[in-house]
Amino acid sequence: MKKYHDFPGIKTQILKRHKGSVTNMSKMFFGPTTFSQDKVKTTQEKTNQVSTEPHSVSQVLLQSSGGISPLPSSSFTLLPLIKRSLEKLEQLIHREMRAIGGQEITMPSLVPLSFWKKSGRMSDRENEREIEGVYVVEKQDLLLAPTHEEVVTQLVSQSNLSSKHLPLYLYQMTNKFRKEKRPKGGLLRTREFLMKDMYTFDTDDEAAKKTYMNVCNAYEKLFEKLELPAIKVLADTGSIGGLLSHEFHVISDVGEDVILHCNSCDMNVNTESLKQNIESLKQNIESLKQDTESLKQDTKSCPNCQAVLQERKGIEVGHAFLLGDRYSLPFDANYMTTNGKKSLLSMGCFGIGVTRLLSTCIEVLSTDKGMRWPALIAPFDVALISPKEGSKEEAVIGGTNGFLKDFALEMSRRGRIHVDETPGLDVLFDDRNNLTVGKRDKDHLMRGIPYLVIAGKSVMEGTNGVMRFEVIRTRDGNKWFLTHEQTLAFLDQVFCS
Ligand SMILES: [Zn+2]
Repeated sequence: MKKYHDFPGIKTQILKRHKGSVTNMSKMFFGPTTFSQDKVKTTQEKTNQVSTEPHSVSQVLLQSSGGISPLPSSSFTLLPLIKRSLEKLEQLIHREMRAIGGQEITMPSLVPLSFWKKSGRMSDRENEREIEGVYVVEKQDLLLAPTHEEVVTQLVSQSNLSSKHLPLYLYQMTNKFRKEKRPKGGLLRTREFLMKDMYTFDTDDEAAKKTYMNVCNAYEKLFEKLELPAIKVLADTGSIGGLLSHEFHVISDVGEDVILHCNSCDMNVNTESLKQNIESLKQNIESLKQDTESLKQDTKSCPNCQAVLQERKGIEVGHAFLLGDRYSLPFDANYMTTNGKKSLLSMGCFGIGVTRLLSTCIEVLSTDKGMRWPALIAPFDVALISPKEGSKEEAVIGGTNGFLKDFALEMSRRGRIHVDETPGLDVLFDDRNNLTVGKRDKDHLMRGIPYLVIAGKSVMEGTNGVMRFEVIRTRDGNKWFLTHEQTLAFLDQVFCS
């Protein structure tokens, strides 16, 4: 058996760069898992109906596949299966943020209340310490930050910036806390979640608008890579404030936001934002003493072209704000112009709910056959299934420590992971040979491992005694019967193209 990495001179180079892995499934920790396909089907049926019951397909799939484990506090422990996927998603986001010039920082979760009083997001009167959705740590004058506009603006205000430092893009990926009245849908809506938040600083509003477009484009590129049909929606600036805001939504019946879509000019508006527009419209119209009856019609028509709007539900996965001097003014965040004068910075802020984004992928890509992942963030690329203990196939191919163990290793050195452009596949070696091949096959179809390589009956059925493996693409159920060498070449072709 000739191994591809045995060529002189290539071996070390490839081995140095390869980042694949082999995980023995019998040793993997799945928590208190109970897998049931019926449960997934029932949830999908329920989701299609109108119901107030908290449920989502991604929650059922993630819990039953051993991805997450619930606590009575409506929060979740993330288990190794989902952590593998989350790590890939984080790397993908880091790459996109660095590609546009982002520099990573980490700000603490516990931040001084005084910052929020300074920005005016929290009243400085003793008896008015409540702010909607924010956890305040009483007596210590701290809060658990849901966003970091104040902290980052304070930081930048002390950093002696000049025009040569601008535009400045700072971002972080940390856990955020929000008082959700109704946490639901597993990781879709939680009180504690992983978020990527970027804060940008520019010389003026014009430059900040360019930055705004730049970051929005990077978000669209990211969602495309995740195979998510995300749409950009005009949104309300809300409690964050500022000049302009857009949300990125993935259309789904589980979504909590109502998106209005114009078929005529392709504009998308969040109903909240439209209400705000209507309010200002109302004031204008009242001042003109026009008939207010015409307003009722306006809530149903496009603010851009007046065509009839259609309602859809969306899950918000990203948010962008053009802040202007909303925070740089109270924190006196300046830069030195080329003329040696101080000038206020114009800001933007941009968020992605990382854990929500991951569960949204599962929510919208999965089918009644099981979980489906975007190819770039699947927890494993391929699963290799060993024959059942004591079977004829096992007698031919050997147990889990011989040829198959090497085969798994070989696979882990093939193909390519696109996220960091290094070769190597993540192989799940299903060595639970006390179970039948059929049962394990089903298990992987449900978990949505993109490719399965099965050492089943086909091992015995090849011509001239050549072993063949059954290779299945879970996405569409397509099958191939390939030899050992053909399987490796197949994986190269699939993951390199
Ligand atoms: Zn329109």
